[in-house]
Amino acid sequence: MEIAILNSRIYTGDPAAPWAEALHIKDGRIAAVGGNADMKAACGKGAQVFELPGRLVVPGIVDAHLHFVSFGLYLDRVDLRDLTSIAACRERVKADVARRRRGEWIIGRGWSEHIWSDRREPCAKDLDDISPDHPVMLVRCCGHTVWLNSMAMRLAGITGETVDAPGARIERDGSGRPIGLCREYRKLIEKVIPPPTLEERKGAALRAQGEALRYGVTGVHTCETLAEWDALAALEAEGKLTLRIHHTLPPEEVEKAKARGIEPTKGSDRLWFGQVKLFADGTLGSGTALLHAPYADNRSTTGLQCLSVKEMAERMELAYRHGGDVAVHAIGDLAVSNVLQAIRAARKAVKGKRRDRIEHVQLIQPDDLGVFQALGVVASVQPVHLLTDMPVAEQKWGTARCRYAYAWKSMLKEGLRVQFGSDAPVEHINPLLSFHAAVNRQSLKGDPKGGWFPAERLTLEETIHAFTQVPAWLSRKEKVLGSLAPGMTADVTVFAEDLFALAPEKLASAQVEMTMVGGEVVYRKR
Ligand SMILES: [Zn+2]
Repeated sequence: MEIAILNSRIYTGDPAAPWAEALHIKDGRIAAVGGNADMKAACGKGAQVFELPGRLVVPGIVDAHLHFVSFGLYLDRVDLRDLTSIAACRERVKADVARRRRGEWIIGRGWSEHIWSDRREPCAKDLDDISPDHPVMLVRCCGHTVWLNSMAMRLAGITGETVDAPGARIERDGSGRPIGLCREYRKLIEKVIPPPTLEERKGAALRAQGEALRYGVTGVHTCETLAEWDALAALEAEGKLTLRIHHTLPPEEVEKAKARGIEPTKGSDRLWFGQVKLFADGTLGSGTALLHAPYADNRSTTGLQCLSVKEMAERMELAYRHGGDVAVHAIGDLAVSNVLQAIRAARKAVKGKRRDRIEHVQLIQPDDLGVFQALGVVASVQPVHLLTDMPVAEQKWGTARCRYAYAWKSMLKEGLRVQFGSDAPVEHINPLLSFHAAVNRQSLKGDPKGGWFPAERLTLEETIHAFTQVPAWLSRKEKVLGSLAPGMTADVTVFAEDLFALAPEKLASAQVEMTMVGGEVVYRKR
């Protein structure tokens, strides 16, 4: 199988020859890169030729942090965003009820009474007549309030006698009966929803894969568990896994994985076990990211510490002893300091060549940048978060501290490896949203003018690098993935516009023309 891409603008990511106009692909690999005439001459007669003037061809985009199967499950939920009445929500729920077996949960998301013509909050009565035999949970756009039908309340044990859980509230009518609206109850209700079956996980993975390819993503690093691994492995065995998947696992599952022959840094070229994933703190939005100094909007707290430095180091040593590297969730600046300290301790205890990563790194103390660099740890960040986080970060951390929030340019200047992802389903998988965030540091509406802490804006080259070469390095696959040099695997993303010629404010709305994995066209825009 031979492919020629001609007449295009190709950003190879290869420092020896960063730009080219044509590409020759043979047997799944890049055979040659160069000028039109040479590539044309090199191609055999049967080659498939793509003339792509005005497009931009880059190495396959890798989403280096998401929750892949969860994203696929989420895509299948009832989408209530932008609906402007309870009646419209009922129509969506009705349609979902019609396609699900009796008793199956109907889960939806995204409603907001603020945009409804009804001007009231919803209740169980709005659902009971259309869904008497299916429990329904509809999560408000904020993620904190759930709208339930009577069957869901029955299954969750929510009755007139139920006492509100700490920090949560069941809304009730005048006689104390729950009306079907609960605040901060989502986790408690999710406990009674049966986990998805293997078949459901496989279906979700296929949906997520379709969406990824549509947005030009050729590989992902997913943070999930053995249950999701099993679904992906089953799909691979059936020849249905197109995407390349780097899979992290929690430390509790390392032994179990090993017993089944799943070992760190090992696997196939489509599915492999990457790092062991730990948590150092909470999140910005919930005020649980762990900080050196108290929260600006609540001086009584510095956030939540999930593991002490010592506990973290012990778990890291366990990962290292199994031949693995670690990925640690750390959002606050103290969490980042703690992880760096733990990594240093664990590496002293267990020798080896490590490729570790810290996830999110949303706030950092400038002094830690040097430590980060010296340890060679990858900063695994999700620029798209910035779109919604800017005002929240200023409110919770204070403007002064935000100078080193989402400080990606400072990281690069210090010599850190930085990689990008979407954190889907928290955000959408579309990498161009992160392109926009990294290059402009503005909301999609263009605020603030000139960008938020504009010194931290990145170039397009830096952004592409973070979506290609760094994730390849973290997967120990930098010799075959991450650039379009001769001999590399032909994972290719083609944007419909030349992003380098585009006005920066138009990056987020650019489109993907074609996606190629291993020299095979797996998505083409119609
Ligand atoms: Zn995540």
